[in-house]
Amino acid sequence: MKIGVLALQGAFREHCWMLEGCGVTAVEIRKPEELDGVDGLIIPGGESTTIGKLMMEWGLLDKIKLRVDQKMAVYGTCAGMILLAKEIKDSNQPRLGIMDIVVRRNAFGRQRESFEADMTVPEFGAESLKAVFIRAPYIEEAGKDVKVMARVHNKIVIARQNNILVTAFHPELTKDDRIHQYFISMTKNA
Ligand code: GLN
Repeated sequence: MKIGVLALQGAFREHCWMLEGCGVTAVEIRKPEELDGVDGLIIPGGESTTIGKLMMEWGLLDKIKLRVDQKMAVYGTCAGMILLAKEIKDSNQPRLGIMDIVVRRNAFGRQRESFEADMTVPEFGAESLKAVFIRAPYIEEAGKDVKVMARVHNKIVIARQNNILVTAFHPELTKDDRIHQYFISMTKNA
């Protein structure tokens, strides 16, 4: 199985290392045709306005939308989550806009530019998950088809809608690979 990692800007290398550590071949994606060879796609954290603009310029927006429509699994972390959201509060930046969520950027406030938090995720068992948040967004509203998987400070930070998974934080910066393993099984079942 091959999983693509969008490699336009941001923390894409760390996702590739994490996937390889899970025994999956990771493929850096920069051109639309490179998507043909992969079974799933990760959109990394970084700067969502930059990634969105580059996706538009490189013709990736339509191709990714088409593949997700055809049931390819996709996982967005942080900026990736913002780009998957249908609505971004106070922004009309380019996006995929395919998940029924409303997100707010840089939402945890200035004093929380970057922080770690523990959360329980029923899907991942009893052991809590420690996560790194960097200028993180959160989900303000989730549609009826969206499954809320975890909250931090009472804000939604992990959610899934069918073949779309999002986290507000950066699991690729920790040693805990449970989210990547979960996404790999989503990709297998897609
Ligand atoms: N604040 C960034 C944005 O709005 C996201 C930060 C991140 O991906 N770590 O795009």
